[in-house]
Amino acid sequence: MEQDRSRELAERLAEVRDRIADACGHARRSVDEVALVAVTKTFPVEDLETLVTLGVTDIGENRDQEARAKHAASAHLQGVRWHFVGQLQTNKARSVAAYADVVHSVDRLSLIRALGRAATGAGRTVRCLLQVRFDPAPGPMGQRGGADPSELPELAAAVADEPALELGGVMGIPPLGADPRGFFERLRTVAVDLRRIHPEAHWISAGMSQDFDIAIEYGATHVRVGRRLLGERPTRR
Ligand SMILES: *Cc1c(COP(=O)(O)O)cnc(C)c1O
Repeated sequence: MEQDRSRELAERLAEVRDRIADACGHARRSVDEVALVAVTKTFPVEDLETLVTLGVTDIGENRDQEARAKHAASAHLQGVRWHFVGQLQTNKARSVAAYADVVHSVDRLSLIRALGRAATGAGRTVRCLLQVRFDPAPGPMGQRGGADPSELPELAAAVADEPALELGGVMGIPPLGADPRGFFERLRTVAVDLRRIHPEAHWISAGMSQDFDIAIEYGATHVRVGRRLLGERPTRR
């Protein structure tokens, strides 16, 4: 059983890495420019450990409670970077800042202040990506993640002002049914604008299982892949 799962994960990982390499080839980019974040939400910590054994260094989770438990259960693993990719309530900032190395979903001042305080208190540095949305309407599942592009300068300055936070760049999720190319293109434009003021903020977190190869064409530096690596998730959300 366990060995079968390890073999399955190894095959899936090899396939994803191949696709990343192909997409980089098409885009004339080096594979070193694209990091794979394995989104392990809903899957057991054993899968996460297997992936790390296979060379995965970046783990993504989207719920605090689950992420926190998995982080504690895998404390013996060395060199894992933890990415919090989900919508984040301000009252969870303290918990998340205790284990997350990167938060991809930073989209408002109150959250930046809470994360800044929490990271300072924990004696840690947390890298923040500003999540952007281009559509003022709520997202496909009613969620409202993301800041309007016009808010980015203010949010970026607020992150830069927090000694325990680092401004990493931007993150985006194309709305369901939207043309991902148009979305990723706009995200890249916003990222270029941000870098004019904050040259260090060069990360673009974009692309999931169904569109990471397209995101790489448009400059993604971090792709967040779940199902293609781990299989279908039991439905939840
Ligand atoms: C679940 C999730 C992913 C991974 O999605 P897949 O379709 O499984 O690849 C990426 N980003 C965020 C924010 C997620 O919540």
